Amino acid sequence: MASDYYSTLGVTKDASADDIKKAYRKLARELHPDVNPDPATQERFKEVTAAYEVLSDPEKRQMFDMGGDPMNPYAGFGGGGFDFGDFMGAFFGGGGQRGPRSRVRRGQDSLIRLEIDLAEAVHGARREFTVDTAVVCPTCTGAGTAAGTEPSMCAMCKGRGETQTVTRSFLGQVMTTRPCGACQGYGTVISHPCHECGSDGRVRTRRTLTIDIPAGVETGTRIQLTSQGEVGQGGGPAGDLYVEIVEKQHAVFHRRGHNLHCTITIPMTAAALGVTVPLETLHGEISLDIAPGTHSGAVLKRKGEGVPHLRGSGKGDLNIHIDVQTPTKLDSKQEELLRQLAALRGEVNVTGIVGNSENQGLFSKLRDAFGGK
Ligand SMILES: [Zn+2]
Ligand SMILES: [Zn+2]
Repeated sequence: MASDYYSTLGVTKDASADDIKKAYRKLARELHPDVNPDPATQERFKEVTAAYEVLSDPEKRQMFDMGGDPMNPYAGFGGGGFDFGDFMGAFFGGGGQRGPRSRVRRGQDSLIRLEIDLAEAVHGARREFTVDTAVVCPTCTGAGTAAGTEPSMCAMCKGRGETQTVTRSFLGQVMTTRPCGACQGYGTVISHPCHECGSDGRVRTRRTLTIDIPAGVETGTRIQLTSQGEVGQGGGPAGDLYVEIVEKQHAVFHRRGHNLHCTITIPMTAAALGVTVPLETLHGEISLDIAPGTHSGAVLKRKGEGVPHLRGSGKGDLNIHIDVQTPTKLDSKQEELLRQLAALRGEVNVTGIVGNSENQGLFSKLRDAFGGK
């Protein structure tokens, strides 16, 4: 705790200058090093001398009466390599740096999301998009002042940008430095602000930008556009703009990592006999050969027709899943043909097979033959 200089000298708060001088002389005689050299007494002598220095000086005494400590503004810590700036920063924020702060600041980064198609993720794309950010005010080019005017010195802080107050706290008496409230710490005041930006030096505007999206991006990929973010106040440098990719769902192809998947449904007869089907892939139209006897659930892999790796080389695959459809509504002629086929293959008596455990073997043969589910 800070010293109470009055009690150190043993005088009351309304003691006269003469009372103070007398009290000090009396104590000094008792505590003087020539009289009493032991360390505890010497410590007390220093305290008494410090108290006298304050209370004998009308200006310092007044400061002390108002709550300040002119001998030791950082009361309670007794010096010794203690970095007061760091301490103030830790307790009150800011600190450390002294003097008026600049009106010019770096702008913030900004983030927008951009929806792209799967094809754009696979091949890469050049896209235009609009973004709403702060840009340098064209009227004042960032200065924030009306034409022909300049900021004037802050009358409150005399241009220092900060004000000091002394407070009592659990730490003792602490001198706190705060940014000046009148000028927000700038040390200057803009009395004639720019009519367009109102002294901020920047305005918001919508711009159109172009971005090159590399092949291989996916939802969550962020592309950094240097210095395309928010311009700082006072015409300060712009932050960066991050474009976050959001990939839209594709109607046919689903993406899992670098691989693409799709499902083709073919009739049972086509599965049994084999078929060639046209398929529009992201790399163009292909003729897909489905071999005779293809089962439902079979996967045809086409290497390198997936999504390219964003970093490095290589591509994923396209996986085509085959879904064989078993006919559900047969007319009498179709049913007759199937019965004949079954008979030819020795797979007689289709009726009633399901649920009959003795015929499970037959059923699985049929399923293999016709690709039923
Ligand atoms: Zn302006
Ligand atoms: Zn000020």
